[in-house]
Amino acid sequence: MTGAWWSRKRLFAEIENIVVTARKRAETATITVQPLRGNVSTLIGSGGNIAVLTGPDGKLIIDSGYATSRAKITDALTNLSPDPIKHLVNTHWHFDHCDGNEWMHEDGAQILAHENTRKNLATSTRVEGWDFTFPPSPAGAIPGEVFGDEKTLHFNGATIALKYYGPSHTDGDLSAYFAEADVLHCGDTWWNGHYPFIDYSTGGNIKGMIKAAESNLAKVTDKTIVIPGHGKIAGKAELTDYRDMLVTIYDRVAALKKEGKSLEEIIAAKPTAAYDSKWAGSFVNGDVFTKLVYDGA
Ligand SMILES: [Zn+2]
Repeated sequence: MTGAWWSRKRLFAEIENIVVTARKRAETATITVQPLRGNVSTLIGSGGNIAVLTGPDGKLIIDSGYATSRAKITDALTNLSPDPIKHLVNTHWHFDHCDGNEWMHEDGAQILAHENTRKNLATSTRVEGWDFTFPPSPAGAIPGEVFGDEKTLHFNGATIALKYYGPSHTDGDLSAYFAEADVLHCGDTWWNGHYPFIDYSTGGNIKGMIKAAESNLAKVTDKTIVIPGHGKIAGKAELTDYRDMLVTIYDRVAALKKEGKSLEEIIAAKPTAAYDSKWAGSFVNGDVFTKLVYDGA
């Protein structure tokens, strides 16, 4: 069964498609700048959290938000420093992390990503969970450079370690670690305070999400500042809560599925109930997350 039944009827009930709505909302979104440590800051408010490294070599940016936020993101970047944009890294191919690719490239950014991110951006790609088919991205938005497993960049006196997670939220997720500042950007392998979306249409799965959460925990200490793809900037304690939530719900859903229960029966059993007050959102509620886990259990 595809995800279409729940995305249309349960999730995005009446009105507009979620992709269309999200892009429209971003036109009026407020962008908040949060300085983190050293010359690393984050821009919050347009799609996925954006990380910015400033300095005399120019700016290196992780994820580009929505294109409709261009003016406000440009203002926020200029207020941070006058350095031009030189590099853009995409944590994965989703529109709320890559829609700004084209204008950032126009403004001088070379785009770097995992090879599967380029593959998904370069072709027409459907996400069942959003009931939406993305057309191929314009040439300027497609990463000019890709890698397979890992890549280390040296820029503005900083070391930036990029590492592929393997299939998790999509098939192209990477982490970006600013070594000197001790700041880790996890992309959408971490949603702080929200049940995560998992994009099975482009290779994501719950087991990979749990593996990615474990790998994030292995990368951080109590001092590391951790940037989630969505939600507040936090650290190891919150990352641990998230991993525990994923594992507990996975175990419950997998046990019920093994007993031969149908998806409908498992949703009715409310395996997420104890977690919903903290993690359920309007986008991914407890029932939707149960289905996302069921599909990969
Ligand atoms: Zn995503």
